[in-house]
Amino acid sequence: MNAEINLAEKLGQKLPPQLVDFLQLAGRKAADRREKAYIVGGVVRDLLLGLDNYDIDLTVEGDAVALARYLMGSASDRITIHKQFNTAKIRWHDWNIDFVTARSETYASPGALPEITPSTLEADLKRRDFTINAMAIGLSGKSYGMLYDPCNGKRDLADKKIRILHDASFIDDSTRIWRGLRYEQRFGFELEPHTLQLLQRDIPMLDAISGERICYEIDCIFKEQYPEKVFKRADRLGVLNRFHPGVKFDMHTEERFSQARERCCPDSPSTLLYWLLLTYDLDIETKEAMISRLRLPKLIAQPLRDCSAVKDRLSLLAAPEIKPGEIYHLLFGYSLQAVLANIIATETEESRAALCLYMEKLHGVKAIITGSDLLEMGVTQGPLLKKMLGAILDARLNGKASSREDEIAIVRKMQAEGSK
Ligand code: ATP
Repeated sequence: MNAEINLAEKLGQKLPPQLVDFLQLAGRKAADRREKAYIVGGVVRDLLLGLDNYDIDLTVEGDAVALARYLMGSASDRITIHKQFNTAKIRWHDWNIDFVTARSETYASPGALPEITPSTLEADLKRRDFTINAMAIGLSGKSYGMLYDPCNGKRDLADKKIRILHDASFIDDSTRIWRGLRYEQRFGFELEPHTLQLLQRDIPMLDAISGERICYEIDCIFKEQYPEKVFKRADRLGVLNRFHPGVKFDMHTEERFSQARERCCPDSPSTLLYWLLLTYDLDIETKEAMISRLRLPKLIAQPLRDCSAVKDRLSLLAAPEIKPGEIYHLLFGYSLQAVLANIIATETEESRAALCLYMEKLHGVKAIITGSDLLEMGVTQGPLLKKMLGAILDARLNGKASSREDEIAIVRKMQAEGSK
């Protein structure tokens, strides 16, 4: 394996000193155990690109969990062990460092999760998705800082190319299709021609991937700075249609994504908001089919439904002279992210104004008087009590009550009317 480039100086320049101390310690402790530890994957790639990335993944030729335990000694409360995957995560100051045993993988069938066997660094790097992610930096002994690059990832970084490691890569795991598009668009790289050809050939393999794994990749795209770039490319290549038939990425959706960023600035839009905007033009039947096919969790599925329900109310919300109380009743109970998606996507100013009023003010409005106050005031449990609470809330929403006294006056008036 070629190991001629030393990145020790770059590590020192790019990573926080306490993190470098930790990595050196990890390398020494691995050597104590006659094992070798390496930084792998995204951090190596980003270090070579000059980008900040402190999400350290360590690969251990040996036993990653035992090394993590040995390293932390009595501070075992800072280690989380995932027995099922034989991995460990260490919390060190503000950072999480993942420890994984070097492994090779075999795929029993396309799209299935791989069978894993402990192995060497080289085999571990060769099971990875793309050459630019298949590099490592040594941490133990004389190899500290050495670049391990068996698949020529550094060359592809310089040439701005995304390249898979073997021709069956997308067949083994077609989530790599989404990952490839994500890296291509994030870095402004290109899928090299043979990789692109295989990607296009293997698009149908995406149907073999579980909904959960597809959703994970889609969420990763939503966390990118410009997710629309990935979806536009995916649409052109016919990948988006495999995500779910009928999902398109047109100019409107692109514009909505950029508006979402403007509205949420300085924060990033939530991944949920992007889900709602990506699927905004789908009818509810198509959304339901997508929810079942991808087994979307309730936290996404319900807001997707809410978004359609709010969209169906847009013309009512645009009615001239609509009262705040009416807006409240049309929208109450729906997810605020679904309201926000409609603010971004609606083309009518009047409905947007109503949605904004709800989002900024009305949804948080509450009466001061409660049901138990009413009981104390002699109102009996039943429909009248409910009606009174509704009337008080409406008065609040419509600006007719602004204090407890105003609310009491409404109750008294209704009691007086009731006894006539
Ligand atoms: P990002 O900057 O997107 O987080 P990353 O490279 O850190 O990039 P992770 O998803 O955290 O990405 O994965 C860590 C490493 O694991 C990758 O760099 C890659 O080497 C490998 N990897 C992740 N997913 C796959 C996959 N589906 N097939 C093969 N290798 C993968």
